[in-house]
Amino acid sequence: MSATIIDGKTIAADLRARVAAEVARLSAAHGLTPGISVVLVGNDPASEVYVRTKSRQVLETGMRLFDHHLPQSAAEHELLALIARLNADPAIHGILVQLPLPPQIEAQKVIAAIDPAKDVDGFHPINAGRLARGLPGLVPCTPLGCVILAKTVRPSLVGLDAVVIGRSNIVGKPLAQLLIGESATVTIAHSKTRELPALCRGKDLLFAAMGRAELVKGDWIKPGATVIDVGINRITDAQGKSRIVGDVAFDEARAVAGAITPVPGGVGPMTIACLLVNTLRAACAARGLPAPAI
Ligand code: NAD
Repeated sequence: MSATIIDGKTIAADLRARVAAEVARLSAAHGLTPGISVVLVGNDPASEVYVRTKSRQVLETGMRLFDHHLPQSAAEHELLALIARLNADPAIHGILVQLPLPPQIEAQKVIAAIDPAKDVDGFHPINAGRLARGLPGLVPCTPLGCVILAKTVRPSLVGLDAVVIGRSNIVGKPLAQLLIGESATVTIAHSKTRELPALCRGKDLLFAAMGRAELVKGDWIKPGATVIDVGINRITDAQGKSRIVGDVAFDEARAVAGAITPVPGGVGPMTIACLLVNTLRAACAARGLPAPAI
């Protein structure tokens, strides 16, 4: 058996197209153009690439983009002052502060300063609490993308056995909570988990988010399972060539799984698409309009 490949690139492009159509409708019907502010501090090359990609995709959907670039030496109070201005600006519905931040700035303080209603990354403790309580709120983008991808092949996750490998605040924990919200039965594994292969073997859904290149082997996977690979790892192969791989040994896994996401081209593109969905939701909520059916 060879698994269905879950094409995150195409699914994300479809999602962005639906966001763009909704942006056009909101603008025509309500004079509302969703706006997002993207804040970059310093010159980390990877962050610059992420911000460029995000900014391009924001503009492609017809949203307004407010770009802010602070120097590497920026003080914490300068960033907090900027966030206070963005919180108060009614044209801005979403605020994204690209992480990591320079060492003189405490990321948790910055995240907590963002108005939860504009926290399109879903990292604010209020939004984390809402998700834990099963209340509506802004949900972290990567876990949201994972669930959307899983549901393209398993429209209902009710009663399925899921394992989430990784317990970070930005991926593993919120992903587990979203899956509980879908009525899956969820096990969370992490670096101290014993007998990880055996724990994974019986699961209908396997989410790998630990940042360990190709750790999940084919014989960890239940035949027919859905495998969502969040990992992004750069490795150098035997020929000395550098490439990106996931946390799952893809070739082994695809021979056993029912469906699997590739890396790259799986979860990655969904993260930005979900950021756009969150911005749209935040804009509708700010106007008292119903959440878009996306
Ligand atoms: P993190 O380092 O914050 O957390 C890693 C988690 O994996 C921890 O909870 C740790 O306990 C667990 N872990 C580590 N080694 C393990 C092992 N051997 N066995 C079991 N569990 C283990 O990482 P993160 O921010 O959650 O990111 C995880 C991966 O997902 C990384 O590769 C990251 O690059 C990738 N990522 C991708 C996207 C995307 O858009 N595709 C977004 C965020 C993160």
